[in-house]
Amino acid sequence: MTVAVLRSEPLMEIVSLTKRYGEQLALNDVGFAVCEGEVLGLIGPNGAGKTTLLEALAGLLPSDNGFVLVRGASIAPARRRDFMFYVPDGVRPYADQPVARVLFFVADVYGRSREFVAGIVIRVGLEGSLAKRVGSLSKGFNRRLMLALGFLARQPLLLMDEPFDGFDLKQTREMMKVLRREAAQGRTLLLSIHQLSDAERMCDRFVLLSAGEVRGVGTLDELRTRIKAPNAGLEEVFLALA
Ligand code: ATP
Repeated sequence: MTVAVLRSEPLMEIVSLTKRYGEQLALNDVGFAVCEGEVLGLIGPNGAGKTTLLEALAGLLPSDNGFVLVRGASIAPARRRDFMFYVPDGVRPYADQPVARVLFFVADVYGRSREFVAGIVIRVGLEGSLAKRVGSLSKGFNRRLMLALGFLARQPLLLMDEPFDGFDLKQTREMMKVLRREAAQGRTLLLSIHQLSDAERMCDRFVLLSAGEVRGVGTLDELRTRIKAPNAGLEEVFLALA
C-alpha cells in the first residue's frame, strides 16, 4: 500500500483500492491521500486506470477491495456524492435543453443565486452559448459547461476526468487559471490529466498511476528527489518511476 507524505490535513484517504474487470486487474492496491485545498493530479497513460479510479471513488463503480476515508471516517460509496462532485469526460447532460436552462436547473439544486450563475458563466466563457442546445455545443464548450456545473455544486471535493480535453493551448491556460481560482477559494481538486506538460503546470502534487498501480506520490520536487534528478520535468520523473 502506498502512503502519501502529507503536509496538511488529509481530506480524503484512499486505502488499498482494488478493481478487476473479469480477469483484468484495473486497480491494484491503490492508496494515497488528498490534502485539503490542493490540486492533485492523477497522472498516467491511456489505460492506466485513471477513469476507473475516479469512478470507483465517486461511488459509481463498485470496487473489489479497499475503502475511502473522509476526514478520518469511512464513507460508503452511496454517500460519496454528498462529499464529492464528479465531472466525467465526454458526457452531455440534458443534450436537448438550452445551456441556460441546464445551468439554472443545477443552480436551483445547489441553492445558487442568479448572480452566482452569471459570475460562473463569465468565468468559463459561456456567455455566447446560453441559448444553444447542449447537444449542439462543440467539445470544448461542452467541457466549459461541465466545469460550470462543477463550480455550481457545493461539494468540497471536485473530481474531473481530463478537464482540458477539447481545449487548445490558449484555452487550456485560460481554464487552468479558472481552476486555480476555484482551488484558491477553498475547493480541493482531483484532476486526471494524461498530458504531462499540462499536469506539471497545473497541479500542486501528483499521483503517478501506471497499469493500475501507484508508482509515486508527491510534489514535483519530492518526486525529483526520489529519482535523484533535481532538474527533471514531470515527464522524466514519470518515465523513471513508471
Ligand atoms: P484513458 O486515458 O485512455 O481514458 P484510463 O487511465 O482512464 O485511460 P481506464 O479507462 O480506467 O484507464 O482503464 C483501465 C483499464 O481497465 C484498461 O485496460 C481498460 O481497457 C480496462 N477497462 C476499463 N473499463 C472497462 C470495462 N468496462 N470492462 C473491461 N475493461 C475495462
